[in-house]
Amino acid sequence: MSAQTVHIKSFGCQMNKLDTALVGAALKEAGFGFTDSVKEADVVLINTCSVREHAEERVFSHLGHLKHIKESRPDMLVGVIGCMAQRLGGELLARDEVDIVCGPAQIPQITGLITKTLQEKKKTLAVTEKIRQAAPENPALEEFESVYDSNDAQVPAQAYVRVMRGCDKFCTYCVVPYVRGPEVSRPPEAVIGQIKRLAGEGVKQVTLLGQRVNSYKYNTCGKTYCLADLLYMASEIEGIEWIRFVTSYPAEECYDEILRAMAELPKVCNHLHLPAQSGSDKILKAMNRNYTASKYLELLDKARDTVPGIAIAGDFIVGFAGETEKDFQKTVSLVEKARYKNCFIFKYSPRPGTTADKRLQDTVSIEVKKRRNTELLAVQERISDELSKRFLGKEVKILVEGLSKKPHLNSAKGGKKPDLCSKNGDLRPQLVGRTETDWIVVFNGPESLAGEFAEVKITRTRPLTLFGELARKD
Ligand code: SF4
Repeated sequence: MSAQTVHIKSFGCQMNKLDTALVGAALKEAGFGFTDSVKEADVVLINTCSVREHAEERVFSHLGHLKHIKESRPDMLVGVIGCMAQRLGGELLARDEVDIVCGPAQIPQITGLITKTLQEKKKTLAVTEKIRQAAPENPALEEFESVYDSNDAQVPAQAYVRVMRGCDKFCTYCVVPYVRGPEVSRPPEAVIGQIKRLAGEGVKQVTLLGQRVNSYKYNTCGKTYCLADLLYMASEIEGIEWIRFVTSYPAEECYDEILRAMAELPKVCNHLHLPAQSGSDKILKAMNRNYTASKYLELLDKARDTVPGIAIAGDFIVGFAGETEKDFQKTVSLVEKARYKNCFIFKYSPRPGTTADKRLQDTVSIEVKKRRNTELLAVQERISDELSKRFLGKEVKILVEGLSKKPHLNSAKGGKKPDLCSKNGDLRPQLVGRTETDWIVVFNGPESLAGEFAEVKITRTRPLTLFGELARKD
């Protein structure tokens, strides 16, 4: 068994990245090796995402590629894990190239599932039958989370820590409640214990993860712990310097406490990801989002009043069922007022099994969705550009992530030469890091800075990226 090599490909959100890291750690402990090459792997795992149609299409395309490889290497085992596995179950297993289908709740069992499938040479299906009725406590999950800590190998000194799973919100377009099950929060002592161990291993920044992280709630010893309590407790851990949390739902519950913790605790990064999805009350209602555009803006005002300098990121869906031009203009207006640092904008595509898919007609044509997407991106780009220019000439503290994956160009209009050397002939590699407020910073410096804090003087900006020169290492 120890000679078996695994290739893992991950699609989707940070939650999936964390699952991939956990699976990798579990397989490593069980004696598996790893390879970057699909062609050399004995086992190929695909961690999937069902949130958008496009993400599923990419998985199917990848499976087609694997089918081709499997024709010449029939012993190669292919496992599909995560949200698509839960959503499609037996349908995926029926494909010639797929040997294992494993839902998010069964991921802690992945090592055993692979071993069993290899030994018995039979296909294996492991998904939750009635996911909304799954037990509120999952002992296997607790054990898995606490045994296998997860440094994201690609980003030194940083780690994700899941504080809860699932979602009870049922936004009408979203598949998450059907594939990830009900909300389950981890006990605070398990979360804090994990962060302490990570700090002991050199982790400096933790990101607390939850589908609706601000709804974290755990009753124990006569007290109800909320996310703010976790932030206070995590702040006391020596070695941890920055704490982030994603993703928040725009709700008042626990909001004041969380903002107060952000304002009071220097270690908690002043960055809030608060998806709005639409600026039209009619569309928000159709999405079952439980707030109005003005209520949402009030939440932003409160965040800015309580936490000066806070940077806010948003999410929007354009072209949702029934979205008229007037509705869309209300979204544009909300983006103008919100002054986000950045926004994630998606074109609506109905997800099978969701309420919107079953009850609402997908009325907006793809051409109109594309046009609204481009228009909204342009509005946000202008705002991001204005905000980024405020950094010119200033020094910012960043946590260095490592080598920049894509070479950034010298000219804001897209010069030809990658920025691999600066004007003064600096031949050091191009590195990337992030500020506390989540601005991406690109600069030249030694690769050894990865995982370290540094100060960078900003000399040039683009809407989503700041460029600068290394001022000093902290
Ligand atoms: S809050 Fe809504 S969009 Fe977010 S995971 Fe839950 S159902 Fe999906």
